[in-house]
Amino acid sequence: MRKVISTLSEKLQSGEITSVQLTEKYISAIEAQNPRLNAYVHLTFDEARANAQAADKMIKEGKATALTGVPFTLKDNIATDGLFTTCCSKILQGFKPYYDATVWAKLKAQGAVLLGKTNMDEFAMGSTGETSVYGAPLNPVDNTRVTGGSSGGGAAAVCANLAAYALGSDTGGSIRQPASFCGVVGFKPTYGAVSRYGLLAYGSSLDQIGPMTQSVTDAAIVYDAIRGEDKADGTSVPTSAQKTVLKGDIKGLKIGISEEYFDGVPTEIKGAIDNMISAYEKGGAQVVRVSIPALKLALSVYYIIACAEASSNLGRYDGIRYGYRASNYTSVDDMITKTRTEGFGKEVKKRIMLGTYVLSSGYFDAYYKKACLLRKTVESQMAEAFEKCDVLFAPTAPNTAFKQGYSGGNAVETYLSDVCTVPVNIAGLPAISIPCGKDKNGLPIGMQIIGKKFSDALVLDTAYFAELNGLSKTAEVEGGVKL
Ligand code: GLN
Repeated sequence: MRKVISTLSEKLQSGEITSVQLTEKYISAIEAQNPRLNAYVHLTFDEARANAQAADKMIKEGKATALTGVPFTLKDNIATDGLFTTCCSKILQGFKPYYDATVWAKLKAQGAVLLGKTNMDEFAMGSTGETSVYGAPLNPVDNTRVTGGSSGGGAAAVCANLAAYALGSDTGGSIRQPASFCGVVGFKPTYGAVSRYGLLAYGSSLDQIGPMTQSVTDAAIVYDAIRGEDKADGTSVPTSAQKTVLKGDIKGLKIGISEEYFDGVPTEIKGAIDNMISAYEKGGAQVVRVSIPALKLALSVYYIIACAEASSNLGRYDGIRYGYRASNYTSVDDMITKTRTEGFGKEVKKRIMLGTYVLSSGYFDAYYKKACLLRKTVESQMAEAFEKCDVLFAPTAPNTAFKQGYSGGNAVETYLSDVCTVPVNIAGLPAISIPCGKDKNGLPIGMQIIGKKFSDALVLDTAYFAELNGLSKTAEVEGGVKL
């Protein structure tokens, strides 16, 4: 794993390179690589150059933090004042918010440099990147494969060294699964640890912003920089005043293994995780078997709740307030219908309809209410498991990166592939995906480390043991910015 942020930060603070120079390097690399990779959908180079100048001033004045002057990227569903924020949807074509998301405001105040907005599945609905109106990003490890999704552009940008780090969002795995497909680190914090203000909502009770990086060290730095209570997000909560300390201390750590997480997972992926578990045991951790039968319910619960919340959240896109408006209409109703018909893609429409259906009278009790009750069961069984162990180890996905186009003909299989990531969102837990070997095609495998609520620091420190001992290797891809 590469400590990209601290390496760059040292160079910046020692004066070996200025942020303006470093930013130009990233800009040249993006110009050279992005037409092929399609990781970025909106380039914000003017903003980046202005940010870099401000960062160099901060460094000179001795006001720098670890992220000052370091170039990064935001997923296209994170609001940036005056800069395109389109959720990779036609319905938000040309939309520029009038305010910054809290995460961006926090990073900007620390002198971060915004290179652009990265590609994603439309409104974060997907597991491949392919529902983006701009076309899918390519997996830098193997261009015939998808990046995963929905934060696929961020994973590709980090993997190909076109950004030092990326912020993504994770509603049902959208940070962790693309991180696993592209061989990088993806961290989904506890629900509420990072403000969602300015994150264009998909499933508000599930959505969480988090970092995608080339190391656990970098993930912890970014997490510390963006977390904390925010008055603008009523679901945000105070987090520890201490910085996250990484020691890789796993002596006596109880690693829970729940067989339910491994159901139907190919032996290749299981084997890679078994190897990792053995290495942790050698390091002094202890394996505990736990059972979480409700994990089997998680996928159905997720798709009902996520679609229900999406159908409500996406009601605001009416052609009046944001982005795209159909041009030929006879009345306001006709304008709204045409705008939504033309503006939303197929997957988004499918989910709005599913969500509207499960919320409609007559079906509410049978679907939505039941899903909410079962959500509690998943949550409480996971909490019970954490009475017996400190962390859970599980696959990030039951598969490695799909071939391009796979999801088109395999919609249900694609939904099913979210089986390992969604439980964490349902229960609001923190989880990290770290690279854990490769499959027979040389594609990265990902492993999740899951913790109980607000044990984000423990999750990061457990993952750091793998970084410290060379057990986890991020993908090495030619091109991009060399450190
Ligand atoms: N693949 C999942 C979905 O399509 C998760 C997406 C996400 O986390 N945004 O809903």
